[in-house]
Amino acid sequence: MSIIIQKFGGTSVANPERIKTIAEKVAKFASQGNKIVVVVSAMSGETDKLISLAKEMMKSPEPREMDSIVSTGEQVTSGLTALALINLGIKAKSYAGHQVKILTNKLHTKARIENIDSTLIKKDLDEGYVVVVAGFQGSDIEGNITTLGRGGSDITAVALAVSLKADECQIYTDVDGIYTTDPRVVPEARKLDSITFEEMLEMASLGSKVLQTRAVEFAGKYKIKLRVLSSFQTSGEGTIITFEDKKNMEDPIISGIAFNRDEAKITILGVPDMPGIAYQILGPIAESNIDVDMIIQNVGQDGLTDFTFTVHQNDMEKTLDILNKKVKDHVKAREINGDNKIAKLSIVGVGMRSNAGVASKMFRTLAEEGVNITTISTSEIKISVILEEKLLNKAVKSLHKVFDLETA
Ligand code: ASP
Ligand code: MG
Repeated sequence: MSIIIQKFGGTSVANPERIKTIAEKVAKFASQGNKIVVVVSAMSGETDKLISLAKEMMKSPEPREMDSIVSTGEQVTSGLTALALINLGIKAKSYAGHQVKILTNKLHTKARIENIDSTLIKKDLDEGYVVVVAGFQGSDIEGNITTLGRGGSDITAVALAVSLKADECQIYTDVDGIYTTDPRVVPEARKLDSITFEEMLEMASLGSKVLQTRAVEFAGKYKIKLRVLSSFQTSGEGTIITFEDKKNMEDPIISGIAFNRDEAKITILGVPDMPGIAYQILGPIAESNIDVDMIIQNVGQDGLTDFTFTVHQNDMEKTLDILNKKVKDHVKAREINGDNKIAKLSIVGVGMRSNAGVASKMFRTLAEEGVNITTISTSEIKISVILEEKLLNKAVKSLHKVFDLETA
């Protein structure tokens, strides 16, 4: 008998009809003799709605109260899902995070799970219940309700899979799996039957929004078998995230192309090329809790160098402000610029490890398309470039073709 965790995102529980549909899916798995734990998100849009309600009371709502408000979205869908199952003749029970007990630290609105006491769930499963757990939430040691950060229901699902030693953790969403790239940009994009965990981690953190990055990391750490599938289709195997690195020799070298239009590039020109400069520039940024992504320092000339990094575009003004006020004079920079009309594009694939020439093929293709790249960074299994946002679609399309992603 297998233990399966089935997580349904906001669009999959968006209304009563959708909830009835997923209940049928769950019922089918349960009737095949599996032990099922369902994790649900709030109805799509609900969390945003609850956040704005809180903001009507207070400009920056107290995080503790924010958590008790936003956690209700998932409590509603978990109860409704249990009812839909009971109506189909399935024994079912719902739990809020704090009832389970999903113990978290005290960091309201972005709490981390410390422990799950799954005694209750195990007992229910043994008695033949389908257990439905409200995603995205837990409680701290004092019983205060906490939430796990946006998209956090994925974490709930993976954490329950770890705690129950589940055979598989299925993430149901509105797409039928992980694609070679966004089909809205490249209609020929292909669904992957499998992707390695490392590749998935890159794709998730690079802006392919199907799975929350933290949940992928978590699953990787405990070797949880993850599968992404569509809740809108009645069949299909989705995409399985595997731990094997070895692929067939004939598989494409690149598995996917991820991109993200949300970054902004900050350039600091003419700073002295000497020890401590990177720290003097990035220290104040980190202190303001701004996440920095790519960082590049150019080769210095005449004792001066340029320094470039990227941040989320919403943080651009704040970053420029900090640099102008706290850093510019201090490091004697000539000029500081921000540019949010940029995009980041990355090609990802474990095949890069054993194939030389991937980078030159990428750069040649972009050159032939007249796409200028301003910044490059690489890791063992990915190459990322920054380019002008308006050239992004063209770049993705041509790379998708050149790296044979259209054909399996
Ligand atoms: N409902 C929460 C959110 O919108 C958590 C989730 O859906 O995973 O972020
Ligand atoms: Mg999500």
